[in-house]
Order: sequence, then C-alpha cells, then structure tokens
Amino acid sequence: MTLAEYEADMAACSRCSSCKWVPFNQIKSWRFARSCPALARFSFHAYSGTGRMSMGLSMLKGRSELSEEVAEIIYRCQLCGACDVSCKVYRDDIDLSEVLMELRASCVEGGQLIADHMLTVDALKRENNVFGEPRSARAAWADGLGLKDTGRESAKVLLHTGCRYSYDTDLWPALRQAARLLQGSGVDVGIAGVQEACCGGRVYELGYQGDAANFADDMISRVKASGADMVVTACSDCFAAFHYLYPRMGKSLGVEVMHMSEFMQKLIGQGRIDLPGAVPMRVTYHDPCHLGRMGEPYLAWNGDKLKRPQYLKRTGRRGVYDAPRAVLSAISELELTEMERIREYSWCCGAGGGVLDAFPEFASWTARERLDEAAATGADALVTACPWCVRIFRDAVEEHGLSIRILELTELVAQAAGMEGEDVT
Ligand code: SF4
Ligand code: SF4
Repeated sequence: MTLAEYEADMAACSRCSSCKWVPFNQIKSWRFARSCPALARFSFHAYSGTGRMSMGLSMLKGRSELSEEVAEIIYRCQLCGACDVSCKVYRDDIDLSEVLMELRASCVEGGQLIADHMLTVDALKRENNVFGEPRSARAAWADGLGLKDTGRESAKVLLHTGCRYSYDTDLWPALRQAARLLQGSGVDVGIAGVQEACCGGRVYELGYQGDAANFADDMISRVKASGADMVVTACSDCFAAFHYLYPRMGKSLGVEVMHMSEFMQKLIGQGRIDLPGAVPMRVTYHDPCHLGRMGEPYLAWNGDKLKRPQYLKRTGRRGVYDAPRAVLSAISELELTEMERIREYSWCCGAGGGVLDAFPEFASWTARERLDEAAATGADALVTACPWCVRIFRDAVEEHGLSIRILELTELVAQAAGMEGEDVT
C-alpha cells in the first residue's frame, strides 16, 4: 500500500476532533477522557490523528514537504489505534491507522530516518531480534524446561516467544511459567529455540515494510517446517503481526494463531489447567493495544468505504478482551476492578510504534498516565498480557517511585495453579 492509496481517507476528515477523545458516551471523567498520548503530551494539533492526516494530505498534494521535523512528529506516536477507534464511532470511511503506517513508510522511502530506529533495524538484520542480542542466546530462557525444539522434532503447538520475552531476564519467570502450564496440561508444545526469529511487526510499524515482508516470509517457512498446526504467543505485538500485519501484506502463517491468554482460557475451560489456589488480591487489567484493537483480524475492503459493511470495519471491537478477564475470573478470591478506559477505548502503555526506542521520556510519561488511572481504582496490582507493557510499567513504577505492583497474567495463573516461582538469577 502507499500513502496515495489513502488520499480519500485523508480528504474525508471533517476536522471534528473526535479522534482526540474517548468516544463521548464512554467518558467517565475529565481526567481520563483523552485518547491520544501524543496529543496529550505535546499539546499541538499536528500530533493528533486528524493533524497527522492533514500533514499527509498536504505532502501528497505538494503543499508541504517531508522534513526532519515532520518525521519527528510522525514518529512521536505509539500507533496505538485509539484515534482510529474513536473516529470509527462517527465515520465509516476513514482508516486512520493505515494512514499513520503509510506516513512512516513515506519517511523511510524519503530518507527521513530516526537514528534509534535504524539501530533497531540493523540489530534485527544482524541478530534476528530488536535488541541486537546474540541469536545464539534466544532460547536461554528455556534452559532446563525440557521443551521440544521444533528444529529437531515436531510438536503440535509452537510457542512463539518474541524478542522481548526471549531476552528480558526479568520477564523469564512468567515465560517459563507459561511453558510449564502448557506442558502440565498435556499440550504437545515446542519452541523454535535459537532458530526463532522476530515476527517483523516492529520493523513494519517503523515503516520498513520491505524488511518486514522478509521477516514474515522467514517466519512462515519456519512454522511450516515445524509441522505445528497452531502458534501460541504470549506477546501481543507478535499476535497483532500474525493477525493483522501479515494478512495486510498478503501473507499468512497458515495455521491457527492464539494468544496465551486465549489458550489459557481454553485449557482452564477444559479442566486441563486446574486452579485450586486462592489469590486474594485486588487487580486492574490493562488491555494491550496489540492484543485489543490493533490485534483484530485484517479484513480487506477494496470498494467504496461508505458502502463497507459494519463487520468489515476496523472498529477495535474484535480484539481480545474477554479471554484475559475470563482467566482472571477463574482465580478464586481475585477481584478485578476496571479502569475508566478499557477494551477498545484503552489508553496505551507507551511502548509501541518505536516510541520506547526513540523517545523514552514520552514513553514513560504515557505509562505514568496509565498508572495514575490504575491507582485511581484502588487496585493492589496492574495485570496485563504483554511483555512490552509489563516492561514499561515496571520501569515507570521505579522511575516515578510508585507502589502499584505490575504482574503478567501468567504469573497469577501460575500462583493459582500452585506452581512455585522460579529463581532465574
Ligand atoms: S474523528 Fe475522524 S473525521 Fe473527525 S477529525 Fe478525527 S480523523 Fe477527522
Ligand atoms: S495512534 Fe495513538 S498516539 Fe498515534 S495519533 Fe492515534 S491515538 Fe495518538
């Protein structure tokens, strides 16, 4: 796709500014009524969804030019999709997130590159992960677990861990617990081990669509070679890449894809994960953007968008929201107290779209906003289902001296299942 293919979307914007807010019938307080982290942080129209579309149309029509300053604005955005969801409440014919992604592709094409993103892309090409860590260490998290290596033996379920989980040692206990929960429930599970590579979602979002296509092709061939008939991932970014970005590129993994929260819900429902233990806590749940509104299946529509049926619109409603809540509700004595902005109207954690790499202060500010919203519920802990969200929230808690605990969904399930924590130091 190209920016020019979204000219009608950009031209259709009526400047109503609804994309700057949670839809009005969802607003519960002024404090948590905003939807766009970039606009809230930088307080200038150009940072909003509508402002970005004005810039895109202006450049397309030759009324302005792509510059370093414009590129900085384009990339100071988490690609969280909140503006798109709000716009869709009022409009049928605008695909805002698509415009935002094509703006980034235009930056790459036009040579307006962000230095920190170039480092990420180089790291990926060199070591197959966004951190530039040695590819040979990708499976170190699984030492001693006895998981099948699908490079050597086949497994029905391929557990795809993603870059963040694979290399962030602080998150390894949750990942190891996820693997052990699958093993304990009799799932024929394996990992690709050192052969696992990045899903390519991050480079796609940074605008390097050609490189993303290469990563997708590589991933597809690895899944095929593994013989697995299902991919389970605990990373919401990978989930969104498989569900949305791959089909957007005209590609398919060719097998069913489930997020770990969905798979756990299924196994709990089948009685294959038993949760005898009580976890007496009050928690609030953060919906990761890429598991929710950005993780919706891709549904193509090439006709007149005003004639597009409701079920083919990217409204955010088909994201994964119920599964993690169902898992939480299966844990005795655990109380879920919701924040004001939830499900498709959720506020971003701050880490997405390459913001954590290039604009860490903005990322941390966004996380702090969410933590204030979580604290307002009176919860003891914020629980979520994405390693990127866990990472940025834990860092923000430390940076801002907050007291709320940050937990991965799997950690609570493991505790309720009576699984002991693991020391990975
Ligand atoms: S909600 Fe949609 S139509 Fe309204 S200003 Fe935002 S992008 Fe434009
Ligand atoms: S994707 Fe998120 S951060 Fe970017 S403009 Fe839309 S609401 Fe703002």
